[in-house]
Amino acid sequence: MLVLYREFSISYFKFSSLFVLVLHLALPSVVQAEARHCIGLFQSQANHAGLFDVREMEVKGYALRRPGFPLKKQNVLLNIEKYIQDFDQLTRGSSGRMIRQTLFAQDGSRVEVYRIHRARAKKRVLISAGVHGDEALGSVVALDLAKQILRETSRAYNSIEFIFIPLVNKEALRLGYRYLREEGDYNRAFHRDGPAPPRVKSIVKELEDIKIDLHLDLHQSMSSSHFFVIRMDRDDSGLSEFGVRSMEESDRMVLSDYKPFRIKPTPYKEIEPGVMSSSNPGTFKSFTSNRGAISITVEAPGLFPVKQAREIYLQLVQTLVDAI
Ligand SMILES: [Zn+2]
Repeated sequence: MLVLYREFSISYFKFSSLFVLVLHLALPSVVQAEARHCIGLFQSQANHAGLFDVREMEVKGYALRRPGFPLKKQNVLLNIEKYIQDFDQLTRGSSGRMIRQTLFAQDGSRVEVYRIHRARAKKRVLISAGVHGDEALGSVVALDLAKQILRETSRAYNSIEFIFIPLVNKEALRLGYRYLREEGDYNRAFHRDGPAPPRVKSIVKELEDIKIDLHLDLHQSMSSSHFFVIRMDRDDSGLSEFGVRSMEESDRMVLSDYKPFRIKPTPYKEIEPGVMSSSNPGTFKSFTSNRGAISITVEAPGLFPVKQAREIYLQLVQTLVDAI
């Protein structure tokens, strides 16, 4: 019995070693196949050029104000390495106008911060994105905006200093998850004190003493087919209303038409079509608002073709920045 057991152990050992060897040999080809698949997808969407992949999912049961609009959830999966490469390349080509700063979080992860300095800056604008890892379109639009700002030299941008934190929850973005279970929702963790994920803590520490005039936190509402912004309840600047009114009426969300909000009581108050307000504690916007900024969460629809959403999103963000 003992002998048999030993023989079994040895053959099991041999088998498992063989298995590991086979796996080892097979894995690179699996990875390569996956990479080829991704390249194929990227190439089929010329505008995206490898920066992201779009995952499309059929959804059912949402009331829409847009008859015949495709009921497909368009989820963006970001290619993080390519994204950082693109932002770095933009930085290098900016003749010193943009610089990269890296924050080192306590868990060893790096938080990329890009700053566009102005000699005569009168205002400071913070653009953050990727607080939720399944809402990567915001990060894409943050990069689009940085490109646009560096391209244009004559506009009001000259008097604005920009801070970009485009990959707030980088690991969740890499996986396409809203957040990592062990860390929880970043957008309830922006408290000055108390427990928070290390990346949030490093951002809080960095921004604590910086005066910010406008903060746009770029999100995506995956179950929505229309754009909306969420301002603070007490914000009477009119900026959100101004920005949203620049959009086509048909692109603005009406909360009463929005089935998920009809089913579940919502902490959001509808100010007018496309403008909500809330004062949820622990959000990134409430953190910067408590330090004097006009802080707005911008939500692009997830039930919307990505290419179109990206263009409208960029226009909305630009309008908000121009108006500050
Ligand atoms: Zn979000």
